[in-house]
Amino acid sequence: MTEGNVSAYAEFNIFAGRCSCQFVIEANGGIYPCDFYVTDEWHMGNIKDSTFEELESSETAKIFVQSSEYIDPKCKSCKWINLCRGGCRRNREPMINGRPNLNYFCSSYREFFEYAIERLYEIAHLVANLPQDR
Ligand code: SF4
Repeated sequence: MTEGNVSAYAEFNIFAGRCSCQFVIEANGGIYPCDFYVTDEWHMGNIKDSTFEELESSETAKIFVQSSEYIDPKCKSCKWINLCRGGCRRNREPMINGRPNLNYFCSSYREFFEYAIERLYEIAHLVANLPQDR
């Protein structure tokens, strides 16, 4: 089993490598792409007026997702890129020239992956071998 195999089972959204729209709905029906971004800047629309498809294809949603896709040069050469993928955008701010920065927790992630990788392989192996009808 390789790091790539482990990451196939580790689709925790902070390690997805890019943002997606989570559709946070406030009490007034206002929709935002993520619970860290319930701000005027990232208001996508209102559930009373728009479908989820319309909200997801809104300009605000597109900018939100696209601005998360930049990969820091340090990540490109990192041995943990298939697991970490740069981490959560929230921890890659402040943006510099519209691009996310190196993750605030980078050194912690490196330390953790080095410490835990063999156990992550074990877990991935166990999950991969679970009976299919569960
Ligand atoms: S551990 Fe650091 S350098 Fe490596 S992919 Fe994650 S954020 Fe980037």
